[in-house]
Amino acid sequence: MDAAELKDYARQRGADLVGIASADRFASLPPEANPLSIAPECRSVIVLGRRILRGSLRGVEEGTNFGSTYGLFGFQWLEDNFLSRTTYELTLFIESHGYEGVPLFGYSPEGMPKGVPVAPDKPAPNVIVDLEFAAQAAGLGEVGLGGFFLTPEFGTRQRLAMVLTDAELEPDPVADRRLCGDCRACVDACPLGAINADDARPVGVPGHTMWVAAIDWRLCRACPNGAMVGPGRGERPDRIAAACGRACLNQLERADKCANRFEQPFRKRTPWVLDSLHRPVPPGERGYNPASAGCAKASEVGKEGG
Ligand code: SF4
Ligand code: SF4
Repeated sequence: MDAAELKDYARQRGADLVGIASADRFASLPPEANPLSIAPECRSVIVLGRRILRGSLRGVEEGTNFGSTYGLFGFQWLEDNFLSRTTYELTLFIESHGYEGVPLFGYSPEGMPKGVPVAPDKPAPNVIVDLEFAAQAAGLGEVGLGGFFLTPEFGTRQRLAMVLTDAELEPDPVADRRLCGDCRACVDACPLGAINADDARPVGVPGHTMWVAAIDWRLCRACPNGAMVGPGRGERPDRIAAACGRACLNQLERADKCANRFEQPFRKRTPWVLDSLHRPVPPGERGYNPASAGCAKASEVGKEGG
């Protein structure tokens, strides 16, 4: 089994994205986020993803359906059924070749239950591997200023999982930032001011770090603009369908930075916005730059660019 065979199999089983990082790329991660804490003999970290259907965002973009479109097909079913099946089948493939495979879900650490360390030299269970670090290390993409993982195929639209293995596989080059152009559409689209680009910090693989804004997750958890918290997924809400995430997708597509292209633009109308009390905010009373909204009307008044 080599890297090409493994990737080919992953794609046959439904993966839209698959990349490989060598284990040495994780040396800078603390034990509580490091894959080697879970599998000390790990030699390769495989990161695989399935796309989020653009159409699953349509109901949220129009403000008319959140749960049965994005909430299921874009979020929970995609992670719990479709991606988990692809991940499981890839792990079976690895183990049929005599290597161990450790399948891992793409959790974030905020609010996840922690146990008691079983020995003084071990981090507390459950170790939660830094998924975005792994995905960058496996060459799949980058983290944008607004904190979204971005790929050249789908922009913001993917769900990721990992498989740790003791198989030594040809790694992909680490990804550098090339999609996010610091346009700040995500910052401008947030009615609650939760993305603070003035308090950005470098994140990612050493030598390839990217500046990412501070996010106030407390505000995001209360956001009525499409943010969602899935069961068992801790306290960091999913923001891909939120006002900030949809603004980013729209900006990347308008700048022609997503290889998965469509006949019609994602954003067709001025986006809806609710304030923290769930009241509609009329376009004239919003604090953001209208060019960032990216609707047909806004494109007349401002420049584009992701
Ligand atoms: S989820 Fe809501 S509050 Fe958080 S950054 Fe996005 S738009 Fe702002
Ligand atoms: S909206 Fe612009 S600044 Fe924000 S993450 Fe996307 S590309 Fe980067």
